[in-house]
Order: sequence, then structure tokens, then C-alpha cells
Amino acid sequence: MTKIYKFEDDISSDALKELEKHSSLAIDTEGSGLQIPHRDKLSLIQLSTGQNDAWIISPNRKTYKAPNIVKILENNKITKIGHYLRYDVSGLEYFLKCEVKNIWDSKVCSKLVRTYSQNHGLKDLVLEFCGKKLDKRLSSSDWNKNLNELTDAQLQYCSNDVIYLHKIKDELHKMLIREQRLELYESCMKFLKTRIKLDQSGFTEDIFQH
Ligand code: MN
Repeated sequence: MTKIYKFEDDISSDALKELEKHSSLAIDTEGSGLQIPHRDKLSLIQLSTGQNDAWIISPNRKTYKAPNIVKILENNKITKIGHYLRYDVSGLEYFLKCEVKNIWDSKVCSKLVRTYSQNHGLKDLVLEFCGKKLDKRLSSSDWNKNLNELTDAQLQYCSNDVIYLHKIKDELHKMLIREQRLELYESCMKFLKTRIKLDQSGFTEDIFQH
């Protein structure tokens, strides 16, 4: 059973102390839709230490004041592991008005090393590296509900998006070394912030494409 901790607005200072002990945290967010930030808003932030735990935060959607979460995001000593951070980092930086530092993206990495597959969804990686079948049916559910109105199924669903990421990172990192693509991966991650700026400026297409 995943241990789930729930927070309104921001994590507590005790939670911050606990999370700051870790050198890497898995992160995911849910929004009211995929068009962040102009149409849709950041609804939920999930963190995991990789020990089958999920820290679920429902930010205040009027003020988006969450200084403790921001401390984690801006802490360069904590690697934030996510899947398709192009979406999550964009929303976090825009709504929480912060800079997300030290990020590691399993989707970008998967595309660079799992060239034998066309499928780079989180559920594909969880199946390959953790042997678990993820049920993605709740991915488009109403995440704007109050935290205490979210069903157990919704809470488990959004926890599943973070609890496997540490294991996935370990495996993909080994493959990056084996395939000698670590440097290429790191360059891609450096570009990610620019990619997000392009998205937010309306350049959603690949500007390098002919
Ligand atoms: Mn998610």
C-alpha cells in the first residue's frame, strides 16, 4: 500500500524537513487540462521519495502561494525526476512563480535509449522496468475537486505517477551510459527550459523542422 500524505495549499514545515533529506524526488502535476498556462490551471502536485510514498498537495488556486514547495523546486541539490517535464515544469514555474532546478526527464531519456520501442508513455516504462500494469483511465478526471473530495482511486492514480520514477531513472540511466548518450541527454535537458519558453510564447511546433 502506498503511504499517502495530503496537504492543502503547501507542504508543512515538517514535511519540508523530511523531503529535504532526499537527494532526488519524483514529481508530477495534474492540471484542469493540457493547455497550461493560458486556458488550464495547475490543480495538484505529487511528490515521492521513491519509498512507495506520495505527498499530494492541492495548491491554492487563487494565490498559488506555496513557499515550501518552491524551496524544494529551487533546491539545486535535489534532483526532480519527472515524466514529460515539458508540461509539469511549465505549469509549476508559471503558477508558483519559481525556477525548477535540477530536473531529470524519463520521457526524454527513454526516447534516447529505448530506440527499440515506439512507446514512451509512463505506463510503458512502468511495465518494462517495474513489471506493473498502470491503469491510466483516471488520467482525465476532475482534479479541481477539493482534496477531501478526491476518491481513493484518484489518490492512488495520481500517486502511481510518482512512485515508480526512481526505479525507472536508475534503469534508464544505466542504458544512457551503455549507449553512450549521456552527453546528448544532458544537452537535451539544457534545452528543455528553452522548449518551455517557446511553448509559452505560442511556438508549439518544432522550430527546427523543415
Ligand atoms: Mn499525472
